[in-house]
Amino acid sequence: MAKEMTFKTEVAQLLDLMINSLYSNRDIFLRELVANAADALDKARFESLTAPDTARDWKIRVDIDKKGRTLTISDNGIGMSEEEVVEHIGTIAKSGTKAFMKMVKEKGSDGADLPEMIGQFGVGFYSAFMVAEKVEIRTKRSGGDAPAVLWSSNGTGSYTLDECPDITEPGTEVKLFLKPDADEYLERWKLTSIIHKYSDYIEYPIIIPSVKKNEDNTETVTDEVVNSQKAIWLRRASEVKDDEYKSFYGHIANYAGTEYLKAIHMDAEGTTEFKALLFLPKEAPFNPFVPELQKRGLQLYVKRVFITDECKELIPEYLRFVCGVVDSSDLPLNVSREILQQNPLLAKIRNAVTSKLLSEMKKMLENDRPAYEKFFHEFGAMLKEGIHTDYANSDKIKDLALYETMNGEKGKLVTLAEYISAMPESQKCIYYLTGDKRESLESNPGLEYYRKNGFDVLFMTDPIDEWLAQSFFQYQKKDLKPAIKGNFEGDDKNEELAEATKKHAKLIAAIKEALADNVSEVKFSSRLIDSPCCIVTEGGAMNPQLERLFKAMNRDMPVSKRILELNAGHVLIEKLSAIAEAGDRPDDVKLYAKVLYDQALITEGSPIPDPAGFAQAITKLMSESIK
Ligand code: ADP
Repeated sequence: MAKEMTFKTEVAQLLDLMINSLYSNRDIFLRELVANAADALDKARFESLTAPDTARDWKIRVDIDKKGRTLTISDNGIGMSEEEVVEHIGTIAKSGTKAFMKMVKEKGSDGADLPEMIGQFGVGFYSAFMVAEKVEIRTKRSGGDAPAVLWSSNGTGSYTLDECPDITEPGTEVKLFLKPDADEYLERWKLTSIIHKYSDYIEYPIIIPSVKKNEDNTETVTDEVVNSQKAIWLRRASEVKDDEYKSFYGHIANYAGTEYLKAIHMDAEGTTEFKALLFLPKEAPFNPFVPELQKRGLQLYVKRVFITDECKELIPEYLRFVCGVVDSSDLPLNVSREILQQNPLLAKIRNAVTSKLLSEMKKMLENDRPAYEKFFHEFGAMLKEGIHTDYANSDKIKDLALYETMNGEKGKLVTLAEYISAMPESQKCIYYLTGDKRESLESNPGLEYYRKNGFDVLFMTDPIDEWLAQSFFQYQKKDLKPAIKGNFEGDDKNEELAEATKKHAKLIAAIKEALADNVSEVKFSSRLIDSPCCIVTEGGAMNPQLERLFKAMNRDMPVSKRILELNAGHVLIEKLSAIAEAGDRPDDVKLYAKVLYDQALITEGSPIPDPAGFAQAITKLMSESIK
């Protein structure tokens, strides 16, 4: 008895879109169905490694029925049980469904590259409805004795499920009843050309029967393999066309991005032999927390047999944006995935893959700076994690890091090496300032000293930089130092400052008292040139940006008190000191101290605790000073 089931809402919407709105590049439906067939064969072949009697002559067929106007794509792969059909095709919407719909909304449904990207969203099967008014799936799961299933739908709202006793061998048949305007897909040459373009590398034979008319008007039908079956990663880079890369990338991309930026072939010999094809994507995902990005790692093949995707052992976490394939000649074929993943050869491959990727990035940095800067803009934050987590390669990753600097224009990025080569002789360390954006760093009065001396300061504005700075220590034997943190160089031995401290002892005491809730210390420093004061963080304490980050994450952090530094040479300090000495206007001194503190917060880009109070204070001061 056939059962009628309804599609999950999002699936129904997606189908509606496929049927009614997507007209460009419909060819890709065949790529998607062939890719699904190849995946099903990969899975069945992997199972057969431990159950050799299930091994069969793996293949994909595309059969044309011109009279019936149908096209059938079939494979003898893993197949699906009834439960799997329900789960994968229909009721349960995958995260990709929503993501794809969202993109359609953003780009408009006539976006020509939309169908191109269907596969990356894990909704490839539904593309069949771009060309078919009805689709039937007949499928039998390999292993076990679950009966074969017939799934059928015209893509509007519901589908039916039935038993399908005529199918006895494992595998899947997808039969498309073509739309009236889709006759071209009944032409063998058309299908062949689509397969050449998108699926040539599929390593299973894709067969399209060829019909020849004989002289006596009879027909001879022969099965012909239409793809070269040469795995793309085994071919020479010079032989692979951009279109082929593009299509393959679409198939293996970890998340729905747009395109790849660079394809990297590897042919490793030596301690371990393997071939690899790796991709640097062009853009980071819309949302870095998408589950698809958690799915990281490379696909692993052993001697061309697919073993697993998401093999995390093949690539370090900070390179999780890279996707691709590794095909090893040395790993054993007949062990379980779990045991295989503990094989020490995987670590060797990972090291080689990591070195290759870092050196390719370096080449890009040296030879195509604009492309590298764009790449770094997308993935630099992830890449930089490696400075902390990959000790062996941290120097190489530091070579790849780019930063804006105080002296450079907004948007101009420098490497650490470039920073060092521009240092004046008197500068001994690399200085940096962390914060959330350039604008709030630039105006920090603590930078005055560096400007005056012709030193530059790296602006580290990625949230991860603050964490990284803790393990950065050195580059090319130069120490990395926070520009505004802790005791300023030489201040503890500076006699002028010691004298000023004595001279203005009352002022310091009064400010300390007024700001007792806000700062742990008030002192003079030679850091300041033009401004009267600034706030610095103690050596080991968390800086304000990091504190805000933790707060935003709802972590209850004790707020660390900071240090207010004063400029002994500033006329304002002289004046304040005079009224503090006189001792007859304690309330005024208190008010001035609070305004000074708020100003210092504003100039470093931090929010002030009581904006209304600040405004009132300024109003009061202005009323008094305007004569
Ligand atoms: P994706 O292949 O990206 O997961 P699809 O919408 O193309 O997304 O397919 C959904 C799921 O249906 C597949 O993940 C697979 O489990 C199952 N499936 C599709 N085609 C086949 C097939 N020919 N044989 C076995 N399972 C299939």
